[in-house]
Amino acid sequence: MPGSPEFFRVTKGIHNALQGSRDELTEDAKRLYLAQNAMAAEKLGRDYDFVVVHDPQPAAMRSLHGANDARWVWRCHIDTSEPNEKVLRFLSPYFSEYDALVFTMDQFVPAGLREGNIAIIPPGIDPLSPKNMTVPVDLCRQIVEWTGVRLDRALITQVSRFDSWKDPLGVIDVYRRVRDDVPGCQLALLGQMALDDPEGWAMYHEILAAAGGDPDIHVLTNFTGIGNIEVNAFQCCSSVVLQKSIREGFGLVVSETIWKGTPVVAGRAGGIPMQMPKGVGGYLIEDIDECVQRTVALLRDPRLATELRTAGRSHVREHFLITRLLADELRLLASLQ
Ligand code: UDP
Repeated sequence: MPGSPEFFRVTKGIHNALQGSRDELTEDAKRLYLAQNAMAAEKLGRDYDFVVVHDPQPAAMRSLHGANDARWVWRCHIDTSEPNEKVLRFLSPYFSEYDALVFTMDQFVPAGLREGNIAIIPPGIDPLSPKNMTVPVDLCRQIVEWTGVRLDRALITQVSRFDSWKDPLGVIDVYRRVRDDVPGCQLALLGQMALDDPEGWAMYHEILAAAGGDPDIHVLTNFTGIGNIEVNAFQCCSSVVLQKSIREGFGLVVSETIWKGTPVVAGRAGGIPMQMPKGVGGYLIEDIDECVQRTVALLRDPRLATELRTAGRSHVREHFLITRLLADELRLLASLQ
């Protein structure tokens, strides 16, 4: 969705508020949000059977566009279980005009929206896309080593937007403590700088400051050549992948990594536990201590990952591939006709 930096500042505030932050929406911010949605609605055209709108940023488009003969679905990708009530109250009238609201988990449906037509559909990954396709291990290793990381030493990686909900600073603490037990261990933080996430750069600088010039901390972004195939290679070749989220919508990176057979150590947040039931794909953790302990255990004894890997891949195959997602989505659209 096009917009000014100010619009993206407002919509990141709305995103944070729906995940429970105290961000306030001023009257000016509301006006800007609605004006930008009106502009996008006008450009959309009218000749559709279905329109699926993702996330809060364009949520008012349905109301501002008018329905025509189309059916409108709003797809929420974040954890809205404990939203900031004031911001939810502003958006609720726009949500309630949709023919269906889709959430990743039942627990994410805010009390005020339960009356609507609700569908629960978790996302899925595309195993044939460049991010998830099988790439020969030698090639993966070359891609990772091209970034300066050495694969003759342990490597822990987190692939995430630079966002406080993903706790990248906590990941650096974990790395420092893991290194006491596993000397030479390296950390890679891969983050895509999204155009509509004004907080990303501030967090990037906080991460660099926390890294303090440590040559074994690699902070890599789309501006340093990280694209889908590089993410694929890091998810394949890391010793352990962390996802230390504090709040999470689904956490696609978890299924992406489990699919590649790499063990995951992840925060018990949002959609992550459904991807990692006990003994599947890796370990869920509550805090930094547990994260360090599980990561060190996996680095010291990689055999621990063998069963997690097999169970993990079949769990993702059954529940979190794009084929299941497509079937769920088609079923929903058919029910709206
Ligand atoms: N991603 C990426 N490059 C990066 C960081 C993230 O391509 O440097 C991708 C990641 O592989 C995943 C998506 O961005 O497909 C993030 O989705 P997720 O559900 O994990 O988190 P979100 O950003 O939606 O909160």
